[in-house]
Amino acid sequence: MHIAIFGCGQLARMLALAGWPMGIRFSFIADTEEDTRCVEGLGAVLRLSEKKAPHVLFEELGKPDVITIEKESVNTAILRELSHFCSVAPNAEILWQVQNRARQKEFLNEYNIPTAPYVRIQQKPQLAEAVKVLGYPVIIKSCEQGYDGQQQWRIHNDGEANAFINSMVEITDAIVEKMLAFSMEISVLGVRNTKGEIAVYEPSENHHRNGVLSVSISPPPTLSAELKIELKSMVTELLRRCNYVGLLAIECFVVDGKIVVNELAPRTHNSGHWTQNGAVCNQFENHLRAICGKTLGSTASLGHCAMINLLGCDAPDELISWPHAHLHWYNKKLRPGRKMGHINLLQENSNELQDDLSHALQMLSSEQNKLHAHEKSSGNAIVRQIVEPR
Ligand code: ATP
Ligand code: MG
Repeated sequence: MHIAIFGCGQLARMLALAGWPMGIRFSFIADTEEDTRCVEGLGAVLRLSEKKAPHVLFEELGKPDVITIEKESVNTAILRELSHFCSVAPNAEILWQVQNRARQKEFLNEYNIPTAPYVRIQQKPQLAEAVKVLGYPVIIKSCEQGYDGQQQWRIHNDGEANAFINSMVEITDAIVEKMLAFSMEISVLGVRNTKGEIAVYEPSENHHRNGVLSVSISPPPTLSAELKIELKSMVTELLRRCNYVGLLAIECFVVDGKIVVNELAPRTHNSGHWTQNGAVCNQFENHLRAICGKTLGSTASLGHCAMINLLGCDAPDELISWPHAHLHWYNKKLRPGRKMGHINLLQENSNELQDDLSHALQMLSSEQNKLHAHEKSSGNAIVRQIVEPR
């Protein structure tokens, strides 16, 4: 079995690392400028520097059996052409539908899935009209190319709106979204194989810092059983109704005790990295099993797990020597704020995990402080946010 992956980041790396023991071989498709260090040694890399005929591209990729993606911002026209030569999962139609935020919102609303209210804009002055409909505060999100909170602007009042309109920022397609006062951020991951079988993981509670995921905890210590059931049926229904193949992540807010969907990710997801040590079969292996037409692995949890992203810092030696701490390193060059790797902590119960987590975050905070003294206050903020009882 040979799989080609669009993208060469950490998700492609972890897919390949999960697939090698299964006897799968990989090739990777990189954009012109893309850094390919994450997939070094894991398969051939083909750079998409010029337009190639689909059959040439297919041959240069080593005639893969299946093509998949690690990111949604891919050229779906190329994927569509390649689908004449081998299977592509998730398919180009669903990727096209969700890779643009406005199209994704329309898609979710068609399925009657609640989302934050929004208005689509093409030019900055239309922000004023949008605010009349939505009220402050709002978040402006570029429809394409945004990830990890990039290409987003938070606007709380007329002063900030005017400053944004007069700024150098360029907008051609964006949504203005009502900023919601949520009590929790949650995500749920489901997977569907080519035979239509579906499996769903325990949800995770997610904490962000400056718009970037910092910590995921699964199972979420305070999420009600009713909302867990609702999340499971939401992802199951979505996978089934659009004949999805592969892993799908749904990011949600809990607002006044109800689920509101933030966004979909048609791929393996950072908030599912805990499954590498906290579930019987992790999200990467299950994505591969799904797209290769194999029976899915068990999504059952092994205990209480927390995933901590290593943002712009190394892993502290003391922390990774804990017997129940598992390091996943991405082979990237260190840059401030960059996702360098993550650590999964697995414990038998929630209290032990919470103790470990606060200890680990304090260690990381001092590691980050050493590297970036100016980030000190926000580092401590996340420690407080997670450690303090609700
Ligand atoms: P990622 O790549 O991490 O998924 P992203 O760039 O796709 O991020 P979003 O998920 O839309 O961006 O937003 C990043 C974070 O900003 C969210 O996880 C949430 O914490 C906050 N956020 C986004 N939209 C809203 C909203 N409408 N109300 C309140 N907070 C929001
Ligand atoms: Mg997000």
